[in-house]
Amino acid sequence: RARPASMSSFWMPFTNNRDFKTQPRLLVSAEGMYYKDVDGNQVLDGTAGLWCVNCGHAQPKIVAAVSEMVGTLDFAPTFQMGHPVAFELAEQLMEYTGHKFGHVFYTNSGSEAVDTALKMALAYHKARGEGGRTRLIGRERGYHGVGFGGLSVGGIGPNRKSFGPLLPGTDHLPHTHNLAKNAFSRGEPEHGMELADELERLVALHDASTIAAVIVEPVAGSTGVLIPPKGYLNRLREICTKHGILLIFDEVITGFGRLGAPFATDYFGVEPDMMTTAKGITNGTVPMGAVFSKKFIHDTFMEAPPGIELFHGYTYSGHPLACAASLATLQVFKEQQVLENARRLQPYWEDAIHSLKGLPHVIDLRSIGLVAGIELQSIPGKPGARAYNAFKKAFADGLLTRVTGDIIALSPPLVLEKQHIDEMFGKLAAVLKNLD
Ligand code: PMP
Repeated sequence: RARPASMSSFWMPFTNNRDFKTQPRLLVSAEGMYYKDVDGNQVLDGTAGLWCVNCGHAQPKIVAAVSEMVGTLDFAPTFQMGHPVAFELAEQLMEYTGHKFGHVFYTNSGSEAVDTALKMALAYHKARGEGGRTRLIGRERGYHGVGFGGLSVGGIGPNRKSFGPLLPGTDHLPHTHNLAKNAFSRGEPEHGMELADELERLVALHDASTIAAVIVEPVAGSTGVLIPPKGYLNRLREICTKHGILLIFDEVITGFGRLGAPFATDYFGVEPDMMTTAKGITNGTVPMGAVFSKKFIHDTFMEAPPGIELFHGYTYSGHPLACAASLATLQVFKEQQVLENARRLQPYWEDAIHSLKGLPHVIDLRSIGLVAGIELQSIPGKPGARAYNAFKKAFADGLLTRVTGDIIALSPPLVLEKQHIDEMFGKLAAVLKNLD
């Protein structure tokens, strides 16, 4: 594929980054750990696409499953209809989530999964005669997609600013990131657990009888890999249970192996009432998301009294191609021991990240599982400019990274080998050494 004659910005209007609008980097093909760009250059994928291609690109089993399905059953309507692959996938997902959940609902994206979970939380309380529980609590620096629900509970001011008034009755916990105390942390920070008690303060402020749910990313991903303090998620769990508030983990990034465990709930040993997922569920091949919910939530809906209407669903819920891609992804996880590989390489990965310590502008290095955040000192008056420069230089040198503010995030496919880690950090170190 050649460079298109015109690159108008119609396909991504919502960005203020003019450089990106006028000079998008064009990817034309991908295989394994590498993309190829429009000029024929190899680009090492340091971000698993956008935190999703965990089994590597053009994974043959997944490609074959999707190709076969498109010629067999290209589409099946959602309502009053189904198809066997959707049910087979549900069974396998129940197993893959360790039977912690009793139900799965298919969406097409993480944003839809979040909005679905928030709606389910409100409907659950209504069905139990606690219709006053409508308040939703998120967290500062939380990212939960771009739907009105996810945006409202999300904690990124600039994302929210132009789209108000958003949902009424939301509030936000403080984020737990403390650079002064946790710089260069490996694994969970030792400080900040007490910030979970801010939830008690919000409960006292609003009254438990008005609160439907709390939603958090176990590890905040797209705001820069913010790792929860030790014990923080357990404490949120305790407080939610005490007050009858549902706890939702948004595992769109952490789900499907990113931490070397199937989900963050397994990694941290804390169980939410609902879990939102997307991205890795199909290895990024076909758009899909899913909401997992505890059996007691589903049972409440099934036994809902007359007058409780529960319409919700998307045209493409459980799309055959997505279900086929997801089934094949689960098979690859098992057959190729993808999680085992992630765990095996985790110490090497962590050491590689910490080898950047002392390079110019690096003020923090964070890592957990196979994800890392490299925080750079901001250029005064130009927030984000330095990391964006690093991104451009790295790409020119054949490495795809993700920048968010002044943080460079890395989240490679979990099927990588040591040589890819060496290549990634060799390139990154060279970029950082020569960065203004
Ligand atoms: N939640 C989290 C934690 C995410 O990281 C994302 C996407 N980065 C979303 C929700 C939204 O997912 P999508 O872009 O598929 O709508």
